[in-house]
Amino acid sequence: MKDKIWLSSPHMGGNELKYVHEAFDNNWVAPLGPNVNGFEQDLEKFLNTDVKIAALSAGTAALHLALIECGVGYGDEVICQSMTFSASANPIAYQGAIPVFVDSEIDTWNMCPVALGEAIRDRFAKGKKPKAIIVVHLYGMPAKMDEILAVAKEFDIPVIEDAAEALGSIYKGKACGTFGRFGVLSFNGNKIITTSGGGALVCHTQEDKDKAVFLSTQARDNAPHYQHSHIGYNYRMSNICAGIGRGQMEVLKDRIQARREMTQFYIDLFANIEGINVFTEPSTDFYSNHWLAAITIEAGKVGKTREDLRLALLEDNIESRPLWKPMHLQPVFKNAVYYGENVAEDLFNNGLCLPSGSNLTDVEKERIKESIVTLFN
Ligand SMILES: *Cc1c(COP(=O)(O)O)cnc(C)c1O
Repeated sequence: MKDKIWLSSPHMGGNELKYVHEAFDNNWVAPLGPNVNGFEQDLEKFLNTDVKIAALSAGTAALHLALIECGVGYGDEVICQSMTFSASANPIAYQGAIPVFVDSEIDTWNMCPVALGEAIRDRFAKGKKPKAIIVVHLYGMPAKMDEILAVAKEFDIPVIEDAAEALGSIYKGKACGTFGRFGVLSFNGNKIITTSGGGALVCHTQEDKDKAVFLSTQARDNAPHYQHSHIGYNYRMSNICAGIGRGQMEVLKDRIQARREMTQFYIDLFANIEGINVFTEPSTDFYSNHWLAAITIEAGKVGKTREDLRLALLEDNIESRPLWKPMHLQPVFKNAVYYGENVAEDLFNNGLCLPSGSNLTDVEKERIKESIVTLFN
């Protein structure tokens, strides 16, 4: 059996161990230390906007703290993009709040601003004011932020931007993750850069960041003994993980370029197959890091389904994966309210993510090409 080709695997730059060794040498083996501060500063600089970063143990933790800081509590409604990874929606349930799911639009596969407006108006008509809106930049593609922020402003609802997949993506000249009241980043092992596991909350004030750090370190009041006035969490990033992150920040620009080249690889590969569309930016307002390359297959035109392609790749030990199954179709959220039509559902039925790692070799790319060409000839 040939070696497995993964969808997206960790890709170290070389200097990660230097920072980890420094942490060991100085015994900063804790959820605080110079690497945590350094990593936060590196991210602030990279996002190139006046933001404050709180490094956390996971992107999911960052979403949870964002909801808490937006005042989301038991019984509150939170609007969430339906087509996403479950980690976007789970923290709503952690708070005892109620998710209201909204469909995607076809240009960016992200939250449809029209369906969002309909959802909010209907919730208001039912006497409910949603407490927050979670919008996601799927596969690195920026959502239509101008339109979404306009709707959110009209109804005075804070936006939480799930940019877990979109570090390095840009919308109208501004970094994804910096548009909302809060932004969320992830450094899980499959993301564009990794700290093995980790995340960050993007804040716009020192006060918001301080609150996130306070909550993520068990909410200890200022006292010599352990005293607590709030429920706390153990969500802070460790200084070891942050060391990996600092090394990864040195190569982030290369990683973005390599991922974008993978999408170009598939554009070239599928150029002559009518009915297969590679996911690309709808206009120059959008700049995707192309974390994962994705395609949709019009089975009627192609004569093959996305399952045919997925299984053919699997046969050659190449990993691929259907697009995110929308949350309103997930058993765990089967009772949730949903607004929109079938855009997300159709994408799920016809879409596939293809190997996109920044560390794929020419030999591996040749294997992918061979496998695909064989199927379609
Ligand atoms: C990865 C991911 C998360 C969760 O991040 P973790 O760091 O794995 O907790 C949240 N939302 C989306 C869209 C993701 O892809």
